[in-house]
Amino acid sequence: MDLYDGIITAARARLADREPRRWDYVAASAWRDAGDSAFIMQRDAAFELGGSDCPSVNFTCITSDERLVPHDEILLYGKDLPELHGDAAFARLAFLLSDDLGDDEAAYQAIRDMSFVKYHVFPEGYMVRTSAQSNREQVRLSKSAIRRGIDFRAVGAAYIRGYRKNPHVRRAQLVFITGDAVTPELVAAAATVDGITQTLTHIMEGLPADCGSCRFKPICDTVDGMRELHTRRK
Ligand code: SF4
Repeated sequence: MDLYDGIITAARARLADREPRRWDYVAASAWRDAGDSAFIMQRDAAFELGGSDCPSVNFTCITSDERLVPHDEILLYGKDLPELHGDAAFARLAFLLSDDLGDDEAAYQAIRDMSFVKYHVFPEGYMVRTSAQSNREQVRLSKSAIRRGIDFRAVGAAYIRGYRKNPHVRRAQLVFITGDAVTPELVAAAATVDGITQTLTHIMEGLPADCGSCRFKPICDTVDGMRELHTRRK
């Protein structure tokens, strides 16, 4: 599975001139999971990641290249949650090392399952709202969670714990970004990841490959392996 490798590499390259904080994954440090989504009222909120029209972006990339995800770990570029005192730009990237996903059909289903894990992680006091259309992931932090010391190390560990429950995930790297490192290029990368998912769905529907009239041509022109995938399905 290398469809997403170029995006992982490019995202890393864009962040290369910044030094992240880095924590190994420790399951015991995961923030408590509320078990379900819980609404946080505006009056109980400390601030919002991606609030006040700040950019907020999220994407998940899956790879079978061990070098791209060397450890289960959490990386943070920018301020941590206890250091923020107002709404901020935000990105959460998940890079997952998978095992052998089997044939194309099985791989497609496995990719969907791994991408959906995020909808089953509910850190207490950390209310996530996502938009599939715009790839936004906005988060409202409760004052109570901030008082109790929530930080990205604990939230990242909660996500990794969730990803590791999927039998195909061998390792997970969670990258959190706040502030000015949330660039338009990251927003564009999220759109490409979404385009890959949509193109995979199109290909798996078994429609004939007619590149001349296909709206996914820009994706197939830029993502290695996509066109070959459709050729195999014909
Ligand atoms: S290979 Fe051609 S037909 Fe198939 S998804 Fe890509 S552009 Fe569309």
